[in-house]
Amino acid sequence: MVVVIDKPMATEDLLLLPFLFFLNSLYIEREEEEMRLHGTQLVNEQGHLEIGGCDTVELAKKFGTPLYIMDEAHIRDICQQYQGSFVKGMENAEVIYASKAFSTLAMCRIIDEEGLGLDVVSGGELYTALQANFPAARIYFHGNNKSREELTMAINAGVGRIVVDNFHEMSILNELAEDLNQRVNILLRVTPGIEAHTHEYIRTGQIDSKFGFTLSDGTADRALDLALSCPFLVVEGIHAHIGSQIFELDSFRHEVQIMIGYMSDIHVRIGYLLQELNLGGGFGIYYASGDEPAQITDYAKTVQAALEDACRDQKFPRPKIIIEPGRSIVGTAGTTLYTVGSIKEIPEIRKYIAVDGGMTDNPRLALYQARYEAVLANRASEETVESVSVTGKCCESGDMLILDIDLPKAISGDLLAVSCTGAYNYSMSSNYNRLTRPGVVLVAGGHADVIVRRETHSDLLRNDVLPARLK
Ligand SMILES: *Cc1c(COP(=O)(O)O)cnc(C)c1O
Repeated sequence: MVVVIDKPMATEDLLLLPFLFFLNSLYIEREEEEMRLHGTQLVNEQGHLEIGGCDTVELAKKFGTPLYIMDEAHIRDICQQYQGSFVKGMENAEVIYASKAFSTLAMCRIIDEEGLGLDVVSGGELYTALQANFPAARIYFHGNNKSREELTMAINAGVGRIVVDNFHEMSILNELAEDLNQRVNILLRVTPGIEAHTHEYIRTGQIDSKFGFTLSDGTADRALDLALSCPFLVVEGIHAHIGSQIFELDSFRHEVQIMIGYMSDIHVRIGYLLQELNLGGGFGIYYASGDEPAQITDYAKTVQAALEDACRDQKFPRPKIIIEPGRSIVGTAGTTLYTVGSIKEIPEIRKYIAVDGGMTDNPRLALYQARYEAVLANRASEETVESVSVTGKCCESGDMLILDIDLPKAISGDLLAVSCTGAYNYSMSSNYNRLTRPGVVLVAGGHADVIVRRETHSDLLRNDVLPARLK
């Protein structure tokens, strides 16, 4: 609540001012406790949640629910924070958006406009980027099992770097490059042996990982020697990605240390100077209370300091630095809007609030026990009075969106806005139970543009074929 004073004040009222300010600050503190606002989110005079200048109650009316809402100004702001602290704040660095977090034509355009590069991990993500006219030279192609077709597509498109994950891929790639008579710039993906503190399903830097060449047992050395003997491959550098949703900057410092140490070892061993160090993504974001992500500027400072130290210690020339944030670019920019349907109360046990989506549009609780926060978008300034569980409409008991959340007393027809759903939600969505995927709107300056249409029932049958004998 904000106290608005709209008439000239009498002198005796002026004496009240400090008291009013004090009251105001109390309210603001309480609201912040109840609800953390992200990007351009605010609660408007009608008590509705507003994002990008758009009233979410109006968005629900116009576009239906469930609906993914992406806050364009917030995405651009984060891109600019990354560009500011890594690219402008450092010499020879590049920020690449990991498009698997949220890949659509509009998103590729925003990333291009903000000057970031793009990381793709499949022919589909590459196709999306190329269709969006994303400059191929700024595309990095990842993946632990790229097919011949995907590699051919990448070579033909002229992607900037192919990040080679394993020996099988290396031999196919060299063969294809020879056939197409084109030299290919590659990075080698290595596993540095770092156990980042995050959920085991999103940890990737440890030795027991399906990704990359192991550093510690000499596999990475063999991979490099082999790559250097492939006439159509140009080894520009090495890459590691230690995991996702990482809060401890120390993990990144450790990664820099190990990687520079390795680059220096190679230089000493065979005299080959690797020019690029790609540190992957993984920077953590706020989802729910207790999450305390660092600032992007501190992330950059940590990398910069670790780099200076390691290069000095190893007497190694500073390589080009590449980072690949995905989640932290789009995660907090996304909100999913649902309509509350059935409500089931089991006295003294639990109250279930069911919404018109679920694990089909957000599988992250089912996959990683992810936590989320939510508000009733149509009554966002009301006080919370009860703790409930938010469930979806799929035929699975594991189809939960939030295990415990304090809300005002919800009734059927209320709108529930779950925040921080911008990353790994739409991109991980499915048609389980033949549910149609929600649409995505991009909001900015009071306008909402559909960037992904809501699926229809007929979309579900697009690829179904009925053999004649079954007709
Ligand atoms: C997933 C992934 C990223 C992005 O990770 P975030 O945690 O979303 O920042 C970057 N690089 C690679 C190789 C990845 O697999």
